[in-house]
Amino acid sequence: MSTSRPPNPPDSTNRTLPPRLSKSRIQSGLQCPLRLWYDCYEPQLASAPDESLQFILDRGLKIGELARERYAGGKLIDVSYQETERALEQTQAAIREPFNSALFEPAFQYCGVLARVDVLARQNAEAWDLIEVKSAARVKEAYVRDVAIQQWVLSGAGIRIERSGVLILNTGYVYDGQQYDLQQLFTFHELTEAVRDLQAQIDEHVVTLQAMLRKSDPPEIAPGVQCNDPYECPYLAHCNKDEPCLEHPLSNLPRLHPNKRLMLEEMGVREIGEIPEDFPLKETQARARQCVLSGEDWVSDELAERLRAIAYPVHHLDFEALMPAIPRYAGMRPYENAPFQYSIHREEQDGQITPLAYLCRHRGDPRRELAEQLLSDLGPMGSICVYSSFERTVIARLAEWLPDLREPLLALINRLWDLLPIIRQNYYHPGLAGSFSIKRVLPVLVPELS
Ligand code: SF4
Repeated sequence: MSTSRPPNPPDSTNRTLPPRLSKSRIQSGLQCPLRLWYDCYEPQLASAPDESLQFILDRGLKIGELARERYAGGKLIDVSYQETERALEQTQAAIREPFNSALFEPAFQYCGVLARVDVLARQNAEAWDLIEVKSAARVKEAYVRDVAIQQWVLSGAGIRIERSGVLILNTGYVYDGQQYDLQQLFTFHELTEAVRDLQAQIDEHVVTLQAMLRKSDPPEIAPGVQCNDPYECPYLAHCNKDEPCLEHPLSNLPRLHPNKRLMLEEMGVREIGEIPEDFPLKETQARARQCVLSGEDWVSDELAERLRAIAYPVHHLDFEALMPAIPRYAGMRPYENAPFQYSIHREEQDGQITPLAYLCRHRGDPRRELAEQLLSDLGPMGSICVYSSFERTVIARLAEWLPDLREPLLALINRLWDLLPIIRQNYYHPGLAGSFSIKRVLPVLVPELS
């Protein structure tokens, strides 16, 4: 196994003063010390965030700004992340001001670790609540450490924390189409105890990471399961640049648990074809292994019969939807899908195909317009062929949002015919690379289509 070891950076001797750490840098270092090394000394090796990651980052900023409106009388420390000293000074001045009931983005520093806190809400004259705002809809394990690192810094800097936790989106909140009810849209999850329990560990982590950053050489660490856990590492492309390009890597095995992958890697197994026959695999995984070894696809005896169950005319239906974190139309919850486009290819038994489509071309709520045209385009009979349960979910929600169309919309659900489980249970080809997504399946089965 090759290790990812960068050349020594130009100023890599006698690092008596390690670079300033932050919450994100400590999290980087706990995921992989080499990631932190790169963050501090060679950040140019990171892949630039793609559009979807940038979208997620921008969405987080917007949600953070909206969350501040929950705290009347709060003051924003409006200083960029590059101007640390100014942010620290303004924070100290704002803390002394008793009328500030909350601070947004205050800066604190302790033992070479900097923390900018999303919200610091005043509990009383002496104590504060530390609140991390997340655009997620559920509390993840990594959040506890996020908050614990900040609490470690603030406590070290002399701030008394009464409660700490995360503010996340409440998927039980239903938007009325008027003003957002910010008390309902967000929900606070207290993590005070769990965060307190981690404080001693943070002490140790900071010492270890700072010691690592003082060394003149980067840590020697090979790519492994840590590269995607808990977040995809931005140095993946760099660390893997010398790795041989495997035709059937272990990542191509359907739904392989990280622990099993680790077991295989520790056995020196890199490719699917090298997995020992007696290694415990699930049915689909064993099938994938067999297809790789034989180089042939696998078709179940039941496939033909399953395909015959479809009724003509067949309507091949595909929705596109937006899934805003903050609900956009009345009746919607955070992260709920609202369809704005569909395409239907109506296929007759003689092979004739008629394309039909809807695309919202205005900025208003498209749901009624789309549902009415959908009912007209799908007509009263024939199977509605879909790929995954997504279309079923969208139609079911349309039926709830539009009570007067509820009956005909629910009738569509009875005509749905989902090809995904049929393919998953009855077919495999090494070219699927462990995935049954339409983007994988189509080029394998119908190579003339992109
Ligand atoms: S890609 Fe993997 S090995 Fe390389 S820095 Fe990131 S986590 Fe560490």
